[in-house]
Amino acid sequence: MIVMIAAVFDKPGIENLKVMDSVEKPKLANPDDVLIKVNVAGVNPIDNLVVSGSIPTVSPIPHIPGAEVSGTVDDIGSEVDGLKKGDRVVIYKQVFDGKCDMCLSGLDMICRNGGSISVITNGGFAEYIAVPHRNVFKIPDDMDWDLAASLPVAALTSFHALNEVHLKVNEFLLIFGASGNTGMIATQLGKKMGAKVIAVSKEQEWVRDFGADYVISEYDRIVEQVREITSGKMVDVVINSLGVKTWDSSFESIGVNGRLVSFGVLTGADVKLNVQALYSKQIKLIGSHSGTRRELKDLIDNHDKLQVKAWKRFNLDNIQQALQALSSKERSGRIFLDVP
Ligand SMILES: [Zn+2]
Repeated sequence: MIVMIAAVFDKPGIENLKVMDSVEKPKLANPDDVLIKVNVAGVNPIDNLVVSGSIPTVSPIPHIPGAEVSGTVDDIGSEVDGLKKGDRVVIYKQVFDGKCDMCLSGLDMICRNGGSISVITNGGFAEYIAVPHRNVFKIPDDMDWDLAASLPVAALTSFHALNEVHLKVNEFLLIFGASGNTGMIATQLGKKMGAKVIAVSKEQEWVRDFGADYVISEYDRIVEQVREITSGKMVDVVINSLGVKTWDSSFESIGVNGRLVSFGVLTGADVKLNVQALYSKQIKLIGSHSGTRRELKDLIDNHDKLQVKAWKRFNLDNIQQALQALSSKERSGRIFLDVP
């Protein structure tokens, strides 16, 4: 058996996640598979959910987590064309059959028979990962690895959410968690798309550098400040992936005919909703999940002004600390894993 180094757990719990040097190296099981040598991996809340056992469908066991992966092509199956050893790539993280009605509509991320790489398959907190060719996207030589390792989850999730709410030029966009993984990208994309961006973040300076027109740092005065900034109209679009803790202030910040989009529930999922306020203001609540392959390609082709801020980096050996750092109150920017 040819082996590699990987982070593996055999039962739920971060304490059970161990870095081992005797894990079987993935093989090219199908002629259209691509073997990728992992370089930088992004650390995301989904990785914690996988390791903690909060997602019941994790398979196989023992399991390698790691949803957001960049690296270089190491080997290709006999039917793979257009890729060669050494190509710099990122991995589209959705598993999809390409056959169901959702896939036929281009909605691979909500495939009826699909799921996520790192959830229903092994992930990329390892030296190598093998995935189908259709999940592999080449990136340009001038793209830095941290941005590359932020495209498949952080950037794609933000971009798809902004497309789902049909953000328009000159609209007010309110972003909760603007210095977080998805928030820092949503801030930049919102600006690129012509919106007036109001960022909720403690980080006045760098969030402004990323394109925020306004930064709200007083968390107990969010609604009040939104009212001031918008001269009482409130915002057109709210992005809130934080869940219950910021739900009330995000709902109260939506103006007439406004939209709220969510793709995460970091602080809890069960919120209270005033249905009367919902219909009388004609508010739309929109759920958004991951993104399409087309959107990932669009992000790669338009990456020139996108940037990410790294907060901490860890080696694969320190995977436990990397996952724990996700919930640190001091976190300001991304956590990356450098794989040997
Ligand atoms: Zn499908």
